[in-house]
Amino acid sequence: MKQYRIAAIPGDGIGQEVIAAGIAVLDVLAEREGSFRFAFDRFDWGSDYYKAHGVMMPPDGLARIKDHDAIFFGAVGAPDVPDYITLWGLRLAICQPFDQYANVRPTRILPGITSPLRHVTGPELDWVIVRENSEGEYAGVGGRVHQGHANEVATDVSMMTRSGVERIIRYAFVLARSRPRKRLTVVTKSNAQRHAMVMWDEIAAEVAAEFPDVTWDKMLVDAMTMRMVSKPETLDTIVATNLHADILSDLAAALAGSLGIAPTANINPERRFPSMFEPIHGSAFDIAGKGIANPVGTFWTACQMLEHLGEKPAADRLMRAVERVTADPALHTPDLSGTATTRAVTDAVIAAIRGDNG
Ligand code: ATP
Repeated sequence: MKQYRIAAIPGDGIGQEVIAAGIAVLDVLAEREGSFRFAFDRFDWGSDYYKAHGVMMPPDGLARIKDHDAIFFGAVGAPDVPDYITLWGLRLAICQPFDQYANVRPTRILPGITSPLRHVTGPELDWVIVRENSEGEYAGVGGRVHQGHANEVATDVSMMTRSGVERIIRYAFVLARSRPRKRLTVVTKSNAQRHAMVMWDEIAAEVAAEFPDVTWDKMLVDAMTMRMVSKPETLDTIVATNLHADILSDLAAALAGSLGIAPTANINPERRFPSMFEPIHGSAFDIAGKGIANPVGTFWTACQMLEHLGEKPAADRLMRAVERVTADPALHTPDLSGTATTRAVTDAVIAAIRGDNG
């Protein structure tokens, strides 16, 4: 039987709770499918590891996960460790060396969930945001001098390369073409940022010539926020820079009902390295340990992982189970104004998988 080796990195706070829920669901799903199984290797990297060892993961960390079929990641961040250490020490320390340059973030309003956009129902909001995940504003280029003095200087240089921009825009066109509406919106800020963002626009036009069947348009990021709220039905696939897409996808998650539902995949499209799947939310220490974290974002990213592994029917079965559960308000966690626990939602998804005859 086929076996997938998955590196599970739950990380901090509710990351622990949602990854445990995700593993339980994936094991039942594999049993239900009968054609594959999972072998999860669990790594205790994160903020507690940092407090004990002074690093977020061991020096040979990447070598230990590079031959896995995928990485199933929870969240990092702790109140008593600076965010730039947790982010750069683990999440980006995996994404960048493994060249996971396409960050893919689907957003839909799932059955039973009410969007804060009250007039909007399911079919009108169905997007995938593609975030450039390897360079741009997160390139790490910059520095600080004269710290603490009046003449202190700090820079963060956004770095865009032609090859980096071209590959993410091509990825987005391919994805747009695979979706029913075949629409792509390219987001920049090329009125104010007149070098790299103008290059984005030029490259988008060049790559678009290879995809005559995709309808595409351009938006400035500020105008894009308004369009997402006022005309969500005009959007489908969206591609943007590392920082712009980060911000837009939090807005998208909120419009879809809760950050707790939103998934993301960090993909190395060439499959030279494992790709990494995680919920969008962070470690949420305000609710950690209470058993009320919403596991739906983790289940949805597990669907993305299954699709990446080539197990589309299993991904579809899991998504059907998730949608059956979200449709029932009695199974909503407190972030969705319900009273259900992580455990209750997980058990219900497991029951729905077992009862699914599709
Ligand atoms: P980060 O770790 O990125 O700094 P954070 O812990 O400050 O993030 P997030 O986890 O991003 O915050 O989420 C903000 C708030 O949204 C949380 O404090 C929590 O109340 C709520 N939230 C996020 N994810 C979930 C979830 N899965 N279930 C329930 N509530 C959630």
